Amino acid sequence: MTTSAAANVPLGSLYVVATPIGNLDDISARALSILRSVALIAAEDTRHSARLMQHFGIPIPLAACHEHNERDQGGRFLARLLAGDDVALISDAGTPLISDPGYHLVRQARAAGVAVVPVPGACALIAALSAAGLPSDRFIFEGFLPAKAAGRRARLEQVKEEPRTLIFYEAPHRILECLQDMQAVFGDERPALLARELTKTFETLKGMPLAELTAWVAADSNQQRGECVVLVAGWQAPEGEAAVSAEAIRVLDLLLAEMPLKRASALAAEITGVRKNLLYQAALERQKDV
Ligand code: SAM
Repeated sequence: MTTSAAANVPLGSLYVVATPIGNLDDISARALSILRSVALIAAEDTRHSARLMQHFGIPIPLAACHEHNERDQGGRFLARLLAGDDVALISDAGTPLISDPGYHLVRQARAAGVAVVPVPGACALIAALSAAGLPSDRFIFEGFLPAKAAGRRARLEQVKEEPRTLIFYEAPHRILECLQDMQAVFGDERPALLARELTKTFETLKGMPLAELTAWVAADSNQQRGECVVLVAGWQAPEGEAAVSAEAIRVLDLLLAEMPLKRASALAAEITGVRKNLLYQAALERQKDV
């Protein structure tokens, strides 16, 4: 058991507790029992969380821990932890720290030797990924994109050739322009999925190539409401002729006009540095086209 050096009292634990992202039944039995047992609950928005606590009959005091006061108030929560009180950290919805406050408090607590205990539960990105049917063995979470178009496009350009499934959070009033930018940067055909209002009455999961998904959202203003997660399939290296640069193809074409296919692809490989079998495949495809 860790104790406070000064008073030799056992330190409290900081519980990082996930709450529902819509459906209140998604709170876990463990989360409820921990929320009932702690001395204090640090909440992103105390008024919002008061309603949740009332629903579950949890009479524990709430104290604000949001992005504007988290650094300053961290000391207050830490003092309680060092004095031996258990504290729970919650956000408005889902898992704290995931595009939500809590990072500074968790860091401070860990640095002070306080046990930080995750109490897992709902998280919109994981819920969306679990039902999207896109590759889920490797993925990256990009959180919220910049609000302004130039910044958003620049960020999308950075991940254009990312092979892992991409996951974004987006505000409803920006969902259409966000999808339009994704279509412009990733291309019309890239598979994508919009997961909207997860676990709520109007839950919608729609998976289509980006151009179709953008048109579908543009045509129905209902799809521009509520909370949403956008998933985009990772980039796939083109195969065959498309994988070879235009310059290598130009060299290959010149040589194919003068010599047999095998010799032309070998020589083109030496000149351009492109792998011989790729150029051989490209040469076969080009001869098919003739
Ligand atoms: N901490 C939360 C989590 O674990 O998912 C995320 C908080 S972040 C401030 C809010 C964003 O999460 C929303 O703008 C939306 O992108 C996503 N989100 C939250 N709840 C959602 C839901 N029920 N359906 C779809 N997306 C949701």
